Amino acid sequence: MEIISDVAQMRRMARAWRGQGKRIALVPTMGYFHDGHLSLMRYGREAADKLVVSLFVNPAQFGPNEDLARYPRDLERDAGMAREVGVDVLFTPPAEAMYPPGYQTYVSVEELSRPLCGASRPGHFKGVATVVLKLLNQVQPDTAIFGEKDYQQLQVIRRLAADLDVPVEIVGRPIVREADGLAMSSRNTYLSPEERASALCLFRAIRAARELVLSGARSRESVLEAVRGIITATPHTDIDYISLVHPDTLREVDTIDPEARLALAVRVGKTRLIDNTLLSESLLCCV
Ligand code: AMP
Repeated sequence: MEIISDVAQMRRMARAWRGQGKRIALVPTMGYFHDGHLSLMRYGREAADKLVVSLFVNPAQFGPNEDLARYPRDLERDAGMAREVGVDVLFTPPAEAMYPPGYQTYVSVEELSRPLCGASRPGHFKGVATVVLKLLNQVQPDTAIFGEKDYQQLQVIRRLAADLDVPVEIVGRPIVREADGLAMSSRNTYLSPEERASALCLFRAIRAARELVLSGARSRESVLEAVRGIITATPHTDIDYISLVHPDTLREVDTIDPEARLALAVRVGKTRLIDNTLLSESLLCCV
């Protein structure tokens, strides 16, 4: 595995691969790898001849009061994990190369960026869309792979690629969870042991919602009420949003249908955690 931080060198390598008729997969990440990241890499390993994983903690997607400075970083550990999965290139562009002096171009996916996380993190998806388009232009992969853990991000990127005619297949992969159900996230490392116990309420709420729907509940309020009840009864929590949305438009839905996605963001202590599920999805495998 090569670690490449120079953008021009990354471009040259990808161009050479394309010249040899190789298919390229890209997995964009902010590093501090866990099994969620590794599952995307394993998928990419199978889906293409060459696998590039980008590792870039993107300043443009963090708000002024967010955790950019303390976001966990460990390049050596990440490189070891990526090497084991068979990554060909770990692409680590420096922020100065991505946003040099004079930089002023941003991409905004308008409607899909507004609700859910967009409402409490203004500018976040503009930063995400911009960096992902830059990475897609730099690497020009055939396939780019993202996790459903960040469901809104996945929908924003699908829309971006379709609207701007980016010749790439966008693939979404299922959420990988800890043994007890907590969705894996680099930010889970911020949690104290007490907060870690509280964080499980997101998964418990999702499971309760699913069970309600399975047992015939069809009222939006009954499902949201059950979810809210579980979270508010858990110490150290503060709800950002609990939403029931159409899986493609991300607009709120009035009636439960199994395609609706339940999405939630909850602050546990100072850490903001997100999770989501398709209400028809079987979660029993995860517990
Ligand atoms: P991040 O490094 O957190 O920006 O995430 C990089 C990619 O990994 C994104 O496409 C995320 O959606 C995905 N990802 C993060 N956590 C998980 C998880 N628990 N399961 C599956 N994919 C994930």
